[in-house]
Amino acid sequence: MAAALSSFDVVVAGAGPGGSVAAFELARSGAHVALVDKARFPRDKACGDLVGPRGVELLGELGIAPEGVVSLGDMAVIGPSGGRVILPAVPGLTYPGCAWALPRKVFDDVLYRAAMEAGAVGITARVAAVEVEDGRGDGVGGAAVVHLDDGGRLRAGALIGADGATSAVAGSVGMVRADRVRWGFAVRTYIDAEVELPVIVLFDEEPGVGFPGYGWLFPGPDGQANAGVGVGAGSDRRAGARATRYLDTFLGHLRMLGLLPSDAVAGPRLGGWLKMGMLGTSPVSGPVLLVGDAAGLVNPLQGEGIAQAMSSGKAAASAVLGVGGERDAGAVYGQWLRQHQSAYQGSTAALQGLLLANPRMVSRLGRALTWPPIGRRLAGGWAIYWNDLVTGAAPGRARSLARVASGAIRGATAASPSRRELGRALGRPRPSAGPGEGLRAIVRLHADPSARDHRVSDELIADRRADAEEG
Ligand SMILES: Cc1cc2nc3c(=O)[nH]c(=O)nc-3n(C[C@H](O)[C@H](O)[C@H](O)COP(=O)(O)OP(=O)(O)OC[C@H]3O[C@@H](n4cnc5c(N)ncnc54)[C@H](O)[C@@H]3O)c2cc1C
Repeated sequence: MAAALSSFDVVVAGAGPGGSVAAFELARSGAHVALVDKARFPRDKACGDLVGPRGVELLGELGIAPEGVVSLGDMAVIGPSGGRVILPAVPGLTYPGCAWALPRKVFDDVLYRAAMEAGAVGITARVAAVEVEDGRGDGVGGAAVVHLDDGGRLRAGALIGADGATSAVAGSVGMVRADRVRWGFAVRTYIDAEVELPVIVLFDEEPGVGFPGYGWLFPGPDGQANAGVGVGAGSDRRAGARATRYLDTFLGHLRMLGLLPSDAVAGPRLGGWLKMGMLGTSPVSGPVLLVGDAAGLVNPLQGEGIAQAMSSGKAAASAVLGVGGERDAGAVYGQWLRQHQSAYQGSTAALQGLLLANPRMVSRLGRALTWPPIGRRLAGGWAIYWNDLVTGAAPGRARSLARVASGAIRGATAASPSRRELGRALGRPRPSAGPGEGLRAIVRLHADPSARDHRVSDELIADRRADAEEG
């Protein structure tokens, strides 16, 4: 007997920040949306637990206000020779001058519940495979059928792949070339310790040879600090094991620096992959859009990915909903990625590639940037540039410096393989397998002007829920 097939307007695979925000946006606009995750919420996720300024801003725009966050400002960076510099947290024109710390077990659950309350249908199952059906030959898109490991099948006109760095959706649809992906791996632990400032530590593996990543110690709620190590692995995932190997050494280093009490006990550790710089991934294929880590949107310089996951989830949802009246959702989403992500991701991926190949340069750079006479002059621009905060930064010396760095690095990497590859991947959406090219936006939802404003009647949401329960 064939497994039951349930139909939705949109299926979102993965309920991390990217998927939950996408489902929240879709559901509150009246779409019939399934949010599928292999884990039952609340669930843990390896992370430094810092939501950067753009993420804080976006949560405000969405009207989602997690309780219990620790608001963080300036960040200290300690270099391989012990030099310290403070990266100032300065409010921009479009983002606040703070980041938030909140354990992902709590943060992701807040977003998941927001999506459920908006009317998304939660399904706990693992996505095992995705089948893309041909379009109907009428010039608008086909459909995706999602096969779950419990035997269920979900069919939708659009599938948003938000299932993280090792995305089953991307793999199943053939949107990723694992050998071209820029991988990172990071591992974290919680420690009972009151930590005042978030700290990043750059260190050498041996004298003059820089570690291709960094360690961190971030404050958290209830005196639980988050400490971890992240490493850039290039396209060789075996190199990720270095992060795990270095964690104990790093914790010892923190104790030696006086940043952790000598008797502070580390809890269990949890690691995870990061997919950076958008490399090796085609984010749009027929009815499938990838967001967040699945699309490789992690910052190649410092590993931040929550804000990008949420903003790309929102952008993919808007594209699918046809906000703005545009019908080709794949093209709209591709354009958003080009406009908001690809220049920074591509140029910093190229820079990261250069650094990974030159560990001595990593060491020299780390020493120079944290040598106070240089560090103090560059810190403002550094904070803006490596957190990808140039767009929307407040006018001033720090912004000018960040703009110069950004322009120089973009110029120097314009012809790099990373930039060329990204240009090809985003040049045009990959055609779907069938004759109905592209993904049709659900513009019908916008026949109702209140839906265009994201003000959807409670009745519509109730109808959707009832439909799902019947299905
Ligand atoms: C150790 C570490 C530290 C980090 N620190 C930070 C930080 O401090 N700040 C920051 O901004 N970023 C940080 N990042 C990156 C950040 O965690 C990610 O960029 C972010 O979680 C991406 O969100 P997402 O929604 O795309 O994917 P995820 O958060 O990975 O969510 C994916 C979801 O998909 C589900 N899933 C996976 N496979 C399937 C399947 N087959 N079927 C169904 N469901 C599936 C998973 O259960 C998960 O819930 C860190 C990453 C690591 C590993």
